[in-house]
Amino acid sequence: QYPFGRRLPCDIYWHGVSFHDNNIFSGQVNKFPGMTEMVRKVTLSRAVRTMQDLFPLEYNFYPRSWILPEELPLFVDEVRMMKDSDPSWKPTFIVKPDGGCQGDGIYLIKDPSDIRQTGSIQSRPAVVQEYICKPLLVDKLKFDIRLYVLLKSLEPLEIYIAKDGLSRFCTEPYQEPTLKNLHQVFMHLTNYSLNIHSGNFIHSDSVNTGSKRTFSSILCRLSSRGADVKKLWSDIISLVIKTIIALTPELKVYYQSDIPAGKPGPTCFQILGFDILLMKNLKPMLLEVNANPSMRIEHEQELSPGVFENVPSPVDEEVKVAVIRDTLRLMDPQNKKR
Ligand code: ADP
Repeated sequence: QYPFGRRLPCDIYWHGVSFHDNNIFSGQVNKFPGMTEMVRKVTLSRAVRTMQDLFPLEYNFYPRSWILPEELPLFVDEVRMMKDSDPSWKPTFIVKPDGGCQGDGIYLIKDPSDIRQTGSIQSRPAVVQEYICKPLLVDKLKFDIRLYVLLKSLEPLEIYIAKDGLSRFCTEPYQEPTLKNLHQVFMHLTNYSLNIHSGNFIHSDSVNTGSKRTFSSILCRLSSRGADVKKLWSDIISLVIKTIIALTPELKVYYQSDIPAGKPGPTCFQILGFDILLMKNLKPMLLEVNANPSMRIEHEQELSPGVFENVPSPVDEEVKVAVIRDTLRLMDPQNKKR
């Protein structure tokens, strides 16, 4: 650790949040320039939309989205047209502020007129998106999947996907959205940071029970119910590859601007966190990409009111230690030389 700056050149530089050091002339850095900007909600939606316009069938793994405030009139018009052509369509939408995380500022609406316009939309852009009303449930609960993806190189494009990830569960049984339950975050949002505050959150020492489980334990369960787990994995792999392809052109522009070809500089790699929701029919849908996924392997426990202690979390440890270990093995400079 170099809290006051680094003196000696290194093989691998592990930056905490983003690529920020322009004085590295060799070695490898664990962040790509511009990645944080590229995976923000608005930028990601824009990049995927460009590809959806070109290849609508290939990019149907991302919910239909509109960027606010600029596309508010388009959103209102399109929804009205779709409702006119199919009066039985009773959609729900989810509004997510740009740059938000951990469920911050997110809310559900039934109609475009329900968007909260009170100043914040003007000052803070957001994405409004079709809400996936029929997610796959396990134990009657909605859950999402966090998968770890290593972007090993942009040119040539090299991508690795960790075989295990995390499944993060809601803490209230799921019901399809109605005006009555729209506000129930423990039913609709799978964020760990929200559900941890529900009285129903279960910390478990086992990887296949509780409110946070391994993805492999879910796959086992699905497979025992007769689901085609091989097809699911292959759909997830294409979702990941296509998402990174959508980000690649702009990432290359950032790369060339920060690390111009021909000048001494590092190469880059990055661990990305992909948040994916499975629909009832097992189709994976992309929710978002995190440029700086949490690698914590502990969680806080309240010993007595106001007194907290960090305790190990076996599920996080099982998944995340493997991700870091395999990343370091793949990026090992000795390996490169060989
Ligand atoms: P944040 O960065 O704040 O976590 P997300 O885009 O991951 O924002 O959304 C938060 C949660 O909301 C997700 O984990 C998921 O449970 C739910 N969610 C987000 N988008 C959708 C959607 N289109 N359909 C259904 N649920 C969604």
